[in-house]
Amino acid sequence: MPKEPREVVIVGGGVAGIFVLRNLFADKDKVPGGLHITLIKREKSGWISTCGLPFALRGWYELERTEIQKPGFYLEQGIDFRSESEVTKLNLDAKSVELKAGENLNYDYLVIATGRKQSVKETTLDGVFTFNDENDACKIEEALKTRNVQHAFVRGRGIIGLQSAVAFAERGIKTTILGGPPSLLPSSLDPDIGDIIKERLEKDGMRFILDRREITAIKGKADWVKSVVIGETAADKEEIPAEIVIIGKWMLPETDLAKAAGIAIGETGGIVTDRAMHVKRGRRSLTEVYALGDCVEVVDGITHRPKLNQMASTAVVQARVIGDNILSDILSQPRLYSTCEYCLSPTVADIGCGLLIGSVGLTTDAATRAGLKTISGKATKLVKARYFPGATSMTMKLIFDAFTLRLLGAQMVGEVCVAERVNEFEVAIRAGLTAAELRNMERSFDPSVAQLEDVTVDAAKKALESA
Ligand SMILES: Cc1cc2nc3c(=O)[nH]c(=O)nc-3n(C[C@H](O)[C@H](O)[C@H](O)COP(=O)(O)OP(=O)(O)OC[C@H]3O[C@@H](n4cnc5c(N)ncnc54)[C@H](O)[C@@H]3O)c2cc1C
Repeated sequence: MPKEPREVVIVGGGVAGIFVLRNLFADKDKVPGGLHITLIKREKSGWISTCGLPFALRGWYELERTEIQKPGFYLEQGIDFRSESEVTKLNLDAKSVELKAGENLNYDYLVIATGRKQSVKETTLDGVFTFNDENDACKIEEALKTRNVQHAFVRGRGIIGLQSAVAFAERGIKTTILGGPPSLLPSSLDPDIGDIIKERLEKDGMRFILDRREITAIKGKADWVKSVVIGETAADKEEIPAEIVIIGKWMLPETDLAKAAGIAIGETGGIVTDRAMHVKRGRRSLTEVYALGDCVEVVDGITHRPKLNQMASTAVVQARVIGDNILSDILSQPRLYSTCEYCLSPTVADIGCGLLIGSVGLTTDAATRAGLKTISGKATKLVKARYFPGATSMTMKLIFDAFTLRLLGAQMVGEVCVAERVNEFEVAIRAGLTAAELRNMERSFDPSVAQLEDVTVDAAKKALESA
C-alpha cells in the first residue's frame, strides 16, 4: 500500500514560516509517501525580505526586488501556498486548523509562525504610517513620491525607527526622532556607544529627542498630517512640523491563536517552546506542534532568562531545527534531531552615513539587571595599517564579568567588517573566553586588511586595566 503524504500546516508566511517551508521542501523526497505542505498568510506576497525594505526606501533598489519569490513559484512546486488567507482557530486535540474562509485543514505537524502584533498608527490622518511589512513600505514610498515632504517625524529609536529616519534624511528631508532615554538602540548598545551614532547622525541634520515625552496630538491639514505635538505641560509641549510620520514602536508577539488553543505563553508575552521548538500545553511539550520567529520567546545564552529577540537571524536557526525535528520524527531517526543554542542576539545594522553597528551578548545594563557585576574596555583604532589608503576607524567596547573576566558582550561602530567581528565574539562568548585570552590571542595580519595589534586587543587591555 502506498503511504499517504504527511500533512504539514504552517501558519504565517514571514521569514520564519518561509524558512520552515524551504527546509521541509528540500527534504520532502526523503519522506516515504511525501510531504504535503500548506502555508497560510494574510498578505498577498510570496517570500518577502522584510529586512531589505528599509534599503529600498533609501533608494538602493526597487521595492519589488524584496519579493524574493512570488506565490506562484511555490504553487508550481505543489506547495499549497495560501496568500490573502487567515487562520481563525487551532484545534490541537482534533489536529486541525480553521480558516476564515470556512475550511478546516487537518495536520500531522503544525508550525505557528505568526510574528508580532502590527503596530498601530492611532490616527485616521493620511501620511502617518507604521513600518511592519511590504504594504507599509509601499505606502511610505508612494507618499515620498507624490507629496512634497520636507519634514519627517519618527517615533522609535530602535533599528526600524532609525533605518526609516535614515531613509528620509538621505533624501534631504529634515527628520526628527522621538524615543526614550538614555540613547539609541538601548537593547543592543550601551549609551556611550549609542551616543557615537547619535552625534554622527546629528551632524547630518537629524534631530533626536530622547526623553520621556510622548506624542500627545497629531495635527493635519485637510486629511494629511502637518505636525506632531509632543509633551503634556505648557513647559514641555512642542509642535514639530511633519508631512510624514512613522510609528516604529516595538511590538509584542502575535499569540492570540496560540493562547486561545491553550498553548503556554511566557512572562515576556511570547510563546514558550522547548529547545527543539515544540510548544507546551501545561507542562507537556506537544511534539507535533512547533512555533518560531517573532511570536516566541527565547532563552538568553548568558542569563538563562526568557527574552524576546525578534530578528530574522534568530528565526532561520529555529526553522532549521524544526525542519530537522519533523524529519527526524517521520523517519524515526533520532540522529537527525536537533536543538537551538541559547540566544546571544548577534545584531548588525547599517544606520547611514556609511556607519555600521554591531553587538552581541549583554549590554552593561542587561548584565546589571541580571545581577552580574561587569568591567569593560573601550578603544577606537584604524582597522588597517595607518599608511594604507582608505584606512577607517572602529570603536569597540568589550564587557566582561568582573569576577571570572569572561566575555559577556561586545559592541562596535565602524565602517567595515562588523558582521564578521560580531560572529567572532559570539563564538568567544560561547567558548567562555576571558579578557586575558582575548588580549593575548594571535590574530591574522596583512596591512591592507588588519592592524598588527587589533582594536580588540586594545579594548581587552583597557578592560583588564580597569579590573
Ligand atoms: C523594517 C524591518 C527591518 C528589519 N531588519 C532586520 C535585520 O536587518 N535583521 C534581522 O535579523 N531582522 C530584521 N528585522 C526583523 C525581522 O524582519 C523579523 O524578525 C522577521 O521578519 C520575523 O519573521 P516572522 O515570520 O516571525 O514574522 P512576520 O514577518 O511578522 O510574519 C508573520 C506572518 O504571520 C502571518 N499571520 C499572523 N497571524 C495569522 C493568521 N491568524 N492567519 C494567517 N496568517 C497569519 C502574517 O500574515 C505574516 O505572514 C526587521 C524588521 C522590520 C519590520
